[in-house]
Amino acid sequence: MNMEEQADGTYNAFIEAMRQREYPMLKDTTYLDHAGTTLYAKSLIERFSADMISNLYGNPHSGSASSQLSTRRIEDIRLRLLSFFKADPAEFDVVFVANATAGIKLVLEAFRDQEHGFWYGCHRDSHTSLVGLREAANQHRCFASDIEVEQWLSNETTISQDIGLFAYPAQSNMNGRRLPLNWSHRVRTNIKQDNHRVYTLLDAAALVSTSPLDLSDGNTAPDFTVLSLYKIFGFPDLGALIVRKASEHVFNKRRYFGGGTVDMVVSMKEQWHAKKSETLHDRLEDGTLPIHSIMALDSALSVHHELFGSLEQTSRHTAFLAKRLYDGLAKLRHGNGLTVCEIYKDPSATYGDVKTQGPTVAFNIRNSSGGWVSNGEVEKLSTVKNLQIRTGGLCNPGGIASSLGLAPWEMKENFSAGQRCGNDDNDIMRSKPTGMIRVSLGAMSTVGDVNAFVDFVREFFVQPESQLPSYSPVMSLDGKPPTSSPFHVESLTIYPVKSCAGWRVPAGKAWEVRREGLAWDREWCLVHQGTSVALSQKRYPKMALIRPSLDLDEGLLRIRFAGASQSPTLPSEVTVPLSGNPAFFSNGSLFEQKPTRVCGDSISAKTYKSKELSSFFSQALGVACHLARFPAAGSGMDSTSSLRHAKAHLQRHHVPPRMQVPGAFPDEVPAPDAVGARKPILLSNESPILTISRSSLNRLNELIKAEGGKAAQVEVFRANIVVAEDLASAPGSEQPYAEDHWRCMQIGRQYFQMLGSCRRCQMVCVDQHTAEKNEEPFVTLSKTRRFDGKVFFGQHTCHLALGDASSPAAQNPTISVGDAVRPYGDEDMNEDEVLRAAVNC
Ligand SMILES: *Cc1c(COP(=O)(O)O)cnc(C)c1O
Repeated sequence: MNMEEQADGTYNAFIEAMRQREYPMLKDTTYLDHAGTTLYAKSLIERFSADMISNLYGNPHSGSASSQLSTRRIEDIRLRLLSFFKADPAEFDVVFVANATAGIKLVLEAFRDQEHGFWYGCHRDSHTSLVGLREAANQHRCFASDIEVEQWLSNETTISQDIGLFAYPAQSNMNGRRLPLNWSHRVRTNIKQDNHRVYTLLDAAALVSTSPLDLSDGNTAPDFTVLSLYKIFGFPDLGALIVRKASEHVFNKRRYFGGGTVDMVVSMKEQWHAKKSETLHDRLEDGTLPIHSIMALDSALSVHHELFGSLEQTSRHTAFLAKRLYDGLAKLRHGNGLTVCEIYKDPSATYGDVKTQGPTVAFNIRNSSGGWVSNGEVEKLSTVKNLQIRTGGLCNPGGIASSLGLAPWEMKENFSAGQRCGNDDNDIMRSKPTGMIRVSLGAMSTVGDVNAFVDFVREFFVQPESQLPSYSPVMSLDGKPPTSSPFHVESLTIYPVKSCAGWRVPAGKAWEVRREGLAWDREWCLVHQGTSVALSQKRYPKMALIRPSLDLDEGLLRIRFAGASQSPTLPSEVTVPLSGNPAFFSNGSLFEQKPTRVCGDSISAKTYKSKELSSFFSQALGVACHLARFPAAGSGMDSTSSLRHAKAHLQRHHVPPRMQVPGAFPDEVPAPDAVGARKPILLSNESPILTISRSSLNRLNELIKAEGGKAAQVEVFRANIVVAEDLASAPGSEQPYAEDHWRCMQIGRQYFQMLGSCRRCQMVCVDQHTAEKNEEPFVTLSKTRRFDGKVFFGQHTCHLALGDASSPAAQNPTISVGDAVRPYGDEDMNEDEVLRAAVNC
């Protein structure tokens, strides 16, 4: 028998058994479908209601008959629940709690109240409720993989605290992957040295919803096991904490006591109380027990047993369905052959194998271009189709971050930009999905449900060949990077702090291009403490010596001062987190909202409150200033226009002067042709990106040197993109000022529009290494590059969002050093095309 027949056989037997019990609703159904769920719910509620109608239950803590009845029943149900997990009441006790999280918090209280605190270790796949426990620990470690746990277990390493707690989920609530159950035993035997002791907390909430948990061996069982009973039975809303009695002494240190957990309290002059000592559950169940929920649990255990037999049965049934779902989704292909579902299965897990994989599939959907489909969209459609799925962060921060490749700072940044658990409006950021789609199967799920879901994805998200997107390209754009071009990107530079030194993008690093410019360019600025005006190098040349750099691994902007400082207390480096709004993440808020004036315009920047930062910049520059940050694009109230304005070049850019003959490179100052003959450029009185050419700079420097002057460094032009010809393979091919004639350029897969020449001022005379002022290159520039009384060098540039917006190249536009550059001049484009391109800019 193959797996399918076997599981189907089990399944059919299951239905058959129910038919034989003469559930009339099932007479004509092949699969349970909703009739099954209804049947279960009805049976359970009827059983519970009969119990409630025929018995009177009182509050357990008194001697009345009703109270005694409650007490007796509750103790019986406690035993019944323990035996559901094969736990011997001599070795285990069960504490009723509201949910799994409440069980975790009881364990937290016990450890938090240990004399010297405790060490906490938890596995990356932990549910948020386990992760939160770390806040009470003196030291904590997050194990990033099973291998890290194995190494820790095999090295017999000690921990720095007397007492420790190691916690992990038996099954990931994110992708259903099942973790090794033998860790508890191995922690107990391997990590034990003299006075150190590490206890284990198993979060079985996801596992037991469809799988048995066997606690028959007290030696190998976890010290503490938490679970959510409603995940097994649907009702009642109750959780349980199962404690191994050999470890219950940990709770002796728990300080809190509540009603019902103490035998005597003296609370007036003397403060004394006697904790109940009989059983652990007496001591831990604070306040009145949820009596009726516990009674309902009895009904649930009975009905569950009658309908499903056992959790083993449920486990086989759901494993069969999950494999079918996984195979169905994994097979889906777009018309062009691309995979539709990116499924986050753990490499160590296999669908159909109940040891390694539970009946949950977590995935994201890609479109036929390979870009991501928004989960908000999937959720909306699935709601219409009456499918019950979950999307988003799934309360599993570690699993989500590692599966989606999100660095901590990115998660914080996403958070700052409005992403919240359960809010799917911002679900693709920096071209990465911020959450997942999760489909979970249970005892009541059917083959029909699985088919319906796979059909749903096929119907709405698979693009067959006939429906592959077509779009009318601007120019003759094929989206393929240029192959043979004389130009390439020589360097990419960003200026994280406006007017301070640039930072070169490392070679080989794909750098994101955003609407407002290269990622992280002019994200920060320095503002005068008195006037709130943004500082500029024109007035404060020493800003050239403030050297920011980006540390994306650590998620930090690092800033050094390269000048001689008057103050011996100036730190060698200060750092700022890259995440958008640290106010959310650190104690107290770092920022205060303050209007800042840039080029006379009032924009809203967030000022860092940190005294250390302000003092660093103020001491370095000799002027009282604060560091400020521009709001993230599209975040809340800050309009994109103010952002673009704030980051814009300090000067209104100029409609480009036109050189006379395209392709003829001026040896002398050419007369610009009618300025404005070119149609006005839409939407751009500012420039997100500045491009210069190496050969133009070489030409300029030749002229400077001919007059005996000092050659200009490339840095003084503060360009973002330096394009150059490959002179090694084509010597003498230099085309200085060719960029003046470009209308567009393609870099790698991305397109850019040239917005016009960049007007220059004496700021180009500040030596970027020493902050000293020179005459050059401004003198020679004004002699050779002056048109209409204004001096120009370099081209304002903007990124064009062209082509298929759902492609990865559009969802994640990047360029790199070394990319080929293909210019488009007048001869390549007509006016209409330029205008159409401009609308996209
Ligand atoms: C659901 C779940 C929890 C939280 O359970 P509550 O009953 O809501 O407190 C914790 N861990 C895992 C693995 C879960 O699946």
